[in-house]
Amino acid sequence: MKLILLGSGAVRPDLDHWGPAQVVQVGGENLLFDCGRGATMRLVQAGIPIQQLKRLFFTHHHFDHNCDFAYLFLSSWVLGRDVPMEIVGPRGTQAFCDALLKSAYRDDIDTRRFHPMYSAHGCKYNVRDVLEDELTLEYEGFRIRMVHVLHKSHILDNLAYRIEADGKSIVIVGDTTMCQSLMNLAEGADLMVHECTFPTARIRSAKWESFHTAPRDLGKWAKARGVKVLVLKHYAIQPGVEIETMFDEVKAEFGDQGLIAGHDLMTLEV
Ligand SMILES: [Zn+2]
Ligand SMILES: [Zn+2]
Repeated sequence: MKLILLGSGAVRPDLDHWGPAQVVQVGGENLLFDCGRGATMRLVQAGIPIQQLKRLFFTHHHFDHNCDFAYLFLSSWVLGRDVPMEIVGPRGTQAFCDALLKSAYRDDIDTRRFHPMYSAHGCKYNVRDVLEDELTLEYEGFRIRMVHVLHKSHILDNLAYRIEADGKSIVIVGDTTMCQSLMNLAEGADLMVHECTFPTARIRSAKWESFHTAPRDLGKWAKARGVKVLVLKHYAIQPGVEIETMFDEVKAEFGDQGLIAGHDLMTLEV
C-alpha cells in the first residue's frame, strides 16, 4: 500500500502547503481522502489520472477539506470518467454533494450530459452518509474501517479511516481532538497521517482544544498505541506557528524513530 500526501496545509493559501487531501493506492485503485484546496492539481502533479479516480472519502465538511470537490468531480467527468463516483463521508455528505451537483452546477451538467463526448454515467454519484458509530466496508483486496472522532462534533460529524490490506494498515485522520475512538482505531497502525495544526501552547491558550490535538498529546498517545510511522500534516502556516516547533513537541513524546513532518507530494509505502 502506498500513501501520497497531496496537501500538508489547511485553510491559509500557501503555495508550498496545499489543502488537506491524500491518496491511498491499494488493490489497483487510487482512493482519495478529503479534497481540499488544489487537490485536483496535486493529483495531476502526482501522476494520477483524475478520470480514473472513482472513490472519495471525506473526513468532515469544513471547507478546507472539501472546497476542491466540485472541480474534481466535474473535471474528472468531462475528461473521461465513465462511472459514477462513489463517495463516503459523515452526516451531511449527501446534502453537500447535492447542493453542488443538483443545484449550483445543475445547469452546467445539463448542458453537457447528452453530448456524445461525455459519459452519461460519469455525472452520477452514489453517497453513503456514515451514521453508525463505527463501520467497516469491504472491497476487493482491502477493507476500510471508520469511526467518528471529535472536532467541534456537536455541530459537525467527523470520521477517521483505517485502510487494511495484506496485513498492513494506514490510518487517515482529518481534524480531531484526542479521543478514545481514534486511539482504538489507530492501535498498532503501520502508518498514521494526523493533523498537527498549532503548537501545544497555542492549543491550550487560544481555545483550540475542542478543535485540534496538541502535538505533545498526539506524540504521547500515538506512542502508547504502537503507531509505527507518524506523519504530520494540516499545518496552520501563520506567524508564530513553526512546523519545526510542532515536530519537536511531538518528538519529545513519540521519539524520532518513525516520525515524519509531512510535505506536499510525499510518498510513503507500507
Ligand atoms: Zn482542517
Ligand atoms: Zn476541520
